[in-house]
Amino acid sequence: MPAPLAALEAQRDGILREITQLGDMRKGSITETFRACGKPGCACHRRDHPGHGPYYAYTMKAAGKTRTVQLRAGARLDKFQREVDTYKEFRALSDKLIAVNDAICAARPEPEEASARSEKKTTSRSSGRKLQGRSTD
Ligand SMILES: [Zn+2]
Repeated sequence: MPAPLAALEAQRDGILREITQLGDMRKGSITETFRACGKPGCACHRRDHPGHGPYYAYTMKAAGKTRTVQLRAGARLDKFQREVDTYKEFRALSDKLIAVNDAICAARPEPEEASARSEKKTTSRSSGRKLQGRSTD
Protein backbone atom coordinates (compact mmCIF):
# COMPACT_ATOMS: atom_id res chain seq x y z
CA MET A 1 0.00 0.00 0.00
CA PRO A 2 1.43 3.39 -0.97
CA ALA A 3 2.07 5.94 1.78
CA PRO A 4 -0.86 8.33 2.16
CA LEU A 5 0.16 11.60 0.57
CA ALA A 6 -2.03 13.77 2.82
CA ALA A 7 -0.43 12.31 5.95
CA LEU A 8 3.05 12.95 4.58
CA GLU A 9 2.15 16.54 3.71
CA ALA A 10 0.79 17.06 7.23
CA GLN A 11 4.07 15.71 8.58
CA ARG A 12 6.00 18.13 6.38
CA ASP A 13 3.85 21.05 7.57
CA GLY A 14 4.64 20.07 11.15
CA ILE A 15 8.39 20.01 10.52
CA LEU A 16 8.27 23.37 8.76
CA ARG A 17 6.34 24.85 11.68
CA GLU A 18 8.94 23.54 14.11
CA ILE A 19 11.70 25.13 12.03
CA THR A 20 10.02 28.53 12.14
CA GLN A 21 9.97 28.32 15.95
CA LEU A 22 13.64 27.47 16.42
CA GLY A 23 15.01 30.95 17.03
CA ASP A 24 18.66 32.02 16.89
CA MET A 25 21.12 29.40 15.75
CA ARG A 26 24.84 29.12 15.21
CA LYS A 27 26.88 26.57 13.36
CA GLY A 28 29.88 25.26 15.24
CA SER A 29 30.77 23.68 18.56
CA ILE A 30 31.79 24.57 22.08
CA THR A 31 34.70 22.84 23.81
CA GLU A 32 35.67 22.79 27.47
CA THR A 33 39.37 22.61 28.33
CA PHE A 34 41.66 22.68 31.36
CA ARG A 35 45.31 23.60 31.02
CA ALA A 36 48.50 24.25 32.92
CA CYS A 37 49.86 27.79 33.13
CA GLY A 38 53.42 28.97 32.60
CA LYS A 39 54.00 29.96 36.22
CA PRO A 40 56.82 27.90 37.74
CA GLY A 41 55.83 26.02 40.88
CA CYS A 42 52.10 26.52 40.32
CA ALA A 43 49.91 23.70 41.63
CA CYS A 44 48.59 23.11 38.11
CA HIS A 45 51.86 21.38 37.15
CA ARG A 46 51.23 18.57 39.63
CA ARG A 47 50.17 15.35 37.96
CA ASP A 48 46.96 15.08 39.98
CA HIS A 49 45.91 18.66 39.13
CA PRO A 50 43.43 18.97 36.27
CA GLY A 51 44.86 22.35 35.23
CA HIS A 52 43.27 25.76 35.23
CA GLY A 53 39.81 26.12 33.89
CA PRO A 54 37.43 25.22 32.65
CA TYR A 55 38.03 27.40 29.62
CA TYR A 56 35.45 27.41 26.91
CA ALA A 57 35.89 28.06 23.24
CA TYR A 58 33.34 28.35 20.50
CA THR A 59 34.73 27.17 17.16
CA MET A 60 33.20 27.54 13.75
CA LYS A 61 34.59 26.50 10.38
CA ALA A 62 33.40 28.33 7.30
CA ALA A 63 34.92 28.56 3.82
CA GLY A 64 38.12 26.85 4.97
CA LYS A 65 38.65 29.23 7.87
CA THR A 66 38.20 28.52 11.54
CA ARG A 67 36.78 31.18 13.79
CA THR A 68 37.29 30.82 17.52
CA VAL A 69 35.70 32.80 20.33
CA GLN A 70 37.03 32.33 23.86
CA LEU A 71 34.25 32.22 26.44
CA ARG A 72 33.98 32.14 30.20
CA ALA A 73 31.28 30.34 32.16
CA GLY A 74 28.31 32.66 32.38
CA ALA A 75 25.45 34.19 30.47
CA ARG A 76 27.43 34.67 27.25
CA LEU A 77 28.52 31.02 27.19
CA ASP A 78 24.92 29.98 27.89
CA LYS A 79 23.76 32.05 24.93
CA PHE A 80 26.35 30.46 22.62
CA GLN A 81 25.41 27.00 23.92
CA ARG A 82 21.73 27.64 23.21
CA GLU A 83 22.49 28.88 19.71
CA VAL A 84 24.71 25.89 18.93
CA ASP A 85 22.09 23.48 20.30
CA THR A 86 19.42 25.16 18.18
CA TYR A 87 21.54 24.65 15.10
CA LYS A 88 21.77 20.93 15.92
CA GLU A 89 17.98 20.82 16.22
CA PHE A 90 17.72 22.59 12.89
CA ARG A 91 20.00 20.02 11.25
CA ALA A 92 17.91 17.17 12.69
CA LEU A 93 14.69 18.79 11.48
CA SER A 94 16.11 19.48 8.05
CA ASP A 95 17.15 15.82 7.71
CA LYS A 96 13.56 14.88 8.59
CA LEU A 97 12.28 17.43 6.09
CA ILE A 98 14.40 15.93 3.32
CA ALA A 99 13.24 12.41 4.18
CA VAL A 100 9.55 13.32 4.23
CA ASN A 101 9.91 15.25 0.97
CA ASP A 102 11.51 12.20 -0.59
CA ALA A 103 8.47 10.16 0.44
CA ILE A 104 6.13 12.86 -0.86
CA CYS A 105 7.88 12.90 -4.23
CA ALA A 106 7.52 9.12 -4.44
CA ALA A 107 3.84 9.21 -3.41
CA ARG A 108 2.85 12.14 -5.63
CA PRO A 109 1.06 10.90 -8.76
CA GLU A 110 2.99 11.66 -11.91
CA PRO A 111 1.52 13.65 -14.77
CA GLU A 112 0.08 11.72 -17.72
CA GLU A 113 2.93 12.24 -20.19
CA ALA A 114 5.60 11.34 -17.65
CA SER A 115 3.88 8.11 -16.62
CA ALA A 116 3.94 6.92 -20.22
CA ARG A 117 7.69 6.44 -19.89
CA SER A 118 8.87 3.42 -17.98
CA GLU A 119 10.26 4.30 -14.56
CA LYS A 120 11.23 0.74 -13.68
CA LYS A 121 14.63 0.84 -15.31
CA THR A 122 15.79 3.89 -13.35
CA THR A 123 15.17 2.42 -9.91
CA SER A 124 18.42 0.45 -9.78
CA ARG A 125 21.53 2.14 -8.50
CA SER A 126 24.00 3.05 -11.18
CA SER A 127 26.38 5.31 -9.30
CA GLY A 128 28.24 5.39 -6.00
CA ARG A 129 31.38 3.42 -6.57
CA LYS A 130 33.15 2.45 -3.39
CA LEU A 131 36.75 3.52 -3.00
CA GLN A 132 37.40 1.56 0.17
CA GLY A 133 38.50 -1.66 -1.49
CA ARG A 134 41.44 -0.05 -3.28
CA SER A 135 44.85 -1.55 -2.66
CA THR A 136 47.60 0.72 -1.40
CA ASP A 137 50.67 -0.64 -3.18
ZN1 LIG B 1 48.95 27.24 37.09
